[in-house]
Amino acid sequence: MPAMEHVSTIAGLRERLDAARSAGATVGLVPTMGYLHDGHLSLARAAAEQCDVVVMTIFVNPLQFAPDEDLATYPRDPEGDAAKAEGAGVDVLFVPELTEMYPHGRDAVLTGVAVPELSSVMEGVSRRTHFGGVCTVVAKLFNIVGACTAYFGEKDYQQLAIVRRMASDLSFPVDVVGCPIVREPDGLAMSSRNVYLSDEERAVAPVLQRALRLGAAAIRSGTTNADEVRTLMRGEIQAAPLGELDYVEVADPDTLAPLSVASRDARLFGAVRFGRARLIDNVGVADVAPSGPIPLLDT
Ligand code: AMP
Repeated sequence: MPAMEHVSTIAGLRERLDAARSAGATVGLVPTMGYLHDGHLSLARAAAEQCDVVVMTIFVNPLQFAPDEDLATYPRDPEGDAAKAEGAGVDVLFVPELTEMYPHGRDAVLTGVAVPELSSVMEGVSRRTHFGGVCTVVAKLFNIVGACTAYFGEKDYQQLAIVRRMASDLSFPVDVVGCPIVREPDGLAMSSRNVYLSDEERAVAPVLQRALRLGAAAIRSGTTNADEVRTLMRGEIQAAPLGELDYVEVADPDTLAPLSVASRDARLFGAVRFGRARLIDNVGVADVAPSGPIPLLDT
């Protein structure tokens, strides 16, 4: 196995990948903001299984953070990330400087890409500028990397839907693939931001996932009133200490529109703030095991 290559310039990455494609190789792309965990690595492993050359990008994109968000304190571990990426089958690690990605400065990006229909609900309500920043950086990465298969996690389901639609609407030569959410043993979805949780908050944080599973179980056992499901999920989260509910939603998995009638096709979403950490999660109703206990919070 050749050692993983480190690339920091756009020109260098293009040259490396154009050469690979000319030689008949396929390219897999895994965009991340680093501080890698098993969720990120599952995307790299999927790419390594399906593509000849795997590129992982690590770039904490300032455009997708609002001024009051955690850009300055976002966790970073460049050396640990490189070792983990290499272990998961990454061939090329692209870590550009801010000036490489935004040569005119982050506040002087005059061009944007947006998918307003899909960006105005759920995360888009609490984070109004977030998806504009995501779309812009992902469009840049797609242009830099070129023809590839790009792997995104269902952990950020709304982001995945938006990126998929953007790639299709703008004819990027990119196949967007969604990968399942990787969870801690107690059900908490892995996230770089989980590091912000205190021990007490960490102990309670799985309530978000439990609430979504409770909603899914209710739908599976015949509840069709989506508001009833929202109330059930909200109640579960609000019964737990320390968490501050942002939203729960019962939505169409493709359009992300809120539903009034819940069915097995629906997807359930939620966001809760625990101290400095804002956690999001989602489940497909059909994906939740039909039987078996749903662990309830022991308070
Ligand atoms: P981030 O570094 O948070 O921007 O995430 C980079 C990619 O990893 C995105 O496509 C995320 O959806 C994905 N990802 C993050 N956490 C998980 C997880 N727990 N399971 C699966 N994918 C994840």
